[in-house]
Amino acid sequence: MNGGFLQTPINYLKGVGPNRADLLKKELGIHTFQDLLNLFPNRYLDRTKYYKITELQRNSAEVQIVGKVIHLKTVEQKRGKRLVATFTDGTSKMELVWFRGHKWIRENVKINVPYVVFGKTNWYNGTFSMPHPEMELVSKHKEGVRSAMQPIYPSTEKLSKSGITNKVIIGLLQQLFTELKGNFSETLSKTILDSLKLVSKSTALLNIHFPQSPELLARSQYRLKFEELFYIQLQLLRKNLQHKSKIKGYPFEEIGENFNTFYNHHLPFELTNAQKRVIKEIRNDLGSNAQMNRLLQGDVGSGKTIVALMSMLIAIDNGFQACLMAPTEILSVQHYNGLLELCNKLNTSIEILTGSTKTSKRREIHKKLENGEINILIGTHALLEDKVKFQNLGLAIIDEQHRFGVAQRSKLWHKNEYPPHVLVMTATPIPRTLAMSVYGDLDISVIDELPPGRKGIKTVHRFDSNRLKVFRFLKDEISKGRQVYIVYPLIQESEALDYKDLMDGYESIVREFPQPNYQISIVHGQMKPADKDFEMNRFVRGETQIMVATTVIEVGVNVPNASVMVIESAERFGLSQLHQLRGRVGRGAEQSYCILMTSHKLSSDAKTRLQTMTQTNDGFEISEVDLKLRGPGDIMGTQQSGVLNLRIADIVKDSAILKIARSYAMQTLKTDPALASEENKPIKHTYSQLVKFKNIWNYIS
Ligand code: ADP
Ligand code: MG
Repeated sequence: MNGGFLQTPINYLKGVGPNRADLLKKELGIHTFQDLLNLFPNRYLDRTKYYKITELQRNSAEVQIVGKVIHLKTVEQKRGKRLVATFTDGTSKMELVWFRGHKWIRENVKINVPYVVFGKTNWYNGTFSMPHPEMELVSKHKEGVRSAMQPIYPSTEKLSKSGITNKVIIGLLQQLFTELKGNFSETLSKTILDSLKLVSKSTALLNIHFPQSPELLARSQYRLKFEELFYIQLQLLRKNLQHKSKIKGYPFEEIGENFNTFYNHHLPFELTNAQKRVIKEIRNDLGSNAQMNRLLQGDVGSGKTIVALMSMLIAIDNGFQACLMAPTEILSVQHYNGLLELCNKLNTSIEILTGSTKTSKRREIHKKLENGEINILIGTHALLEDKVKFQNLGLAIIDEQHRFGVAQRSKLWHKNEYPPHVLVMTATPIPRTLAMSVYGDLDISVIDELPPGRKGIKTVHRFDSNRLKVFRFLKDEISKGRQVYIVYPLIQESEALDYKDLMDGYESIVREFPQPNYQISIVHGQMKPADKDFEMNRFVRGETQIMVATTVIEVGVNVPNASVMVIESAERFGLSQLHQLRGRVGRGAEQSYCILMTSHKLSSDAKTRLQTMTQTNDGFEISEVDLKLRGPGDIMGTQQSGVLNLRIADIVKDSAILKIARSYAMQTLKTDPALASEENKPIKHTYSQLVKFKNIWNYIS
């Protein structure tokens, strides 16, 4: 059976009239036979298991119970009537409830005769109830053949209200399998099937809907997950390849004077192996004549800046300019000062351009940029203004890209005739598996090693009731010359309240740490940018010992002398935010601390977050936990949640399959980029069908 036939509109299936067709389309996105086939069960129900009422859980799924109706009554309620049966199985009692079809039930349900009832249970007012149960007399039930695994399909309230129950869906699928005679064309190549010992497409589809055995179900699930991930990876990798062959970049073939002088004489420390590896990867990219499009992931403090600098030196050695864009003025200034210091023995001209650059200076920079006198320009969004014209921008580096939209990224590309190479750096640890699927069209480098000699940050969890002890600890640290951050949450929805918390907190800190012994900075979102910078800079220069702030300090700020991070109401922060905040300390030689303050009331997720923080400093490990807690959609933000529109695979749980799928997709494209071989015919066909018929693939473009 073939693709063409599977594209038959669903209303041509026996049992689907115009109404049902309409509902299936609206509620489940099922337009064609193919769509119905791809409606995979969420789970399977063991219909060989019978529950006792006393065994029921408050949030249990569908269950079947054997018992008798001992009483039937109509209950009047505000909106219509309810028919309620008292049902007992000898262990306890529960209610069966109907909102419609009372007459039929009253006439047909037998009192005191054993039934098997099946359905979802609710817990209400101290009793379990089962609305609209499926009921079957035990005498009849025994005759039927029980399949051990009954598929449970995704549904919506509207569907079940309109009578399209799980049973109906099963019926439709049975009908479809009968019409198709269970024969489906293979969608993977023989090589892949053989080497991974995958079951055929026909076996997989039959068993995913009607499992013949748990083993076959497992193998079918594996095959379908693999297939789904394989085609996503194939698409991403193809895009990447096409990009490389189409979009040319300036080849930087020279490794010249600046790079060599710096590398041989002015490196302030020995590079870590991870840094060396990443620089090599970047050098390779820059040396080819395809445009580089690389994402550099590295935990806070892993040393991305030096990698950025050395990449920029390569550009300069090849006669090009480079720019480094940061999300805030403070960060830009820090990069600027840092790079000036690193380059002070080199012959490079570095400038900074931000919102607060004076007009005269701005004009000078514009001019020097156009005539090529500036080698490296550092700055904020100000770099994206139309007046900023490079003579020949060869490399654009973007630090902390999650603050920049993709649109802005592409704006930089169009500054020049030829697009510059692009390196995006981020400390937001995105689990590799997720990065692979979301950024599959970027190349990814990872610095997965911290510079040697770092003392791990000691993280503890303290309750508000221990606050005085915490304050004493802060005083000790300050007396040793250290600085301290105290951070309050600021969540948009509760902004006014949060602001009050911050101010209350600030006042109590001012009381606890009085002038002139202590100087305190405060930074929050309602301040003018100039005031924020002023306060921030006082702290950076060491004029204040305590920085009270909302999360505005989260990105990038580098104050090596700050050794304590206190996070108030830590239970309200997400894991990645906590990790980012903690990354503000531990940047100097001293032992650093992170203190997570909370009340005693903690949800179980909050407990997991706090525990994770106290147990590990590893950003990737933390991001994996975060992903499990929140789900991928939340982590990547709404724009990218389309990527997670998977039918059967789960990006978190199936990361092992994802890796295999990716390597097979790579291998396939490597040996046969056009998918032209006889062997790859099924892949080529499936791929083009997917592109043609499935708009879910749009998310990739
Ligand atoms: P991030 O990746 O967070 O941007 P930075 O580039 O700011 O990290 O580096 C953090 C600190 O570690 C800086 O003070 C930097 O000088 C230092 N550093 C970077 N690489 C090394 C290294 N290989 N050995 C020792 N110190 C290093
Ligand atoms: Mg950095």
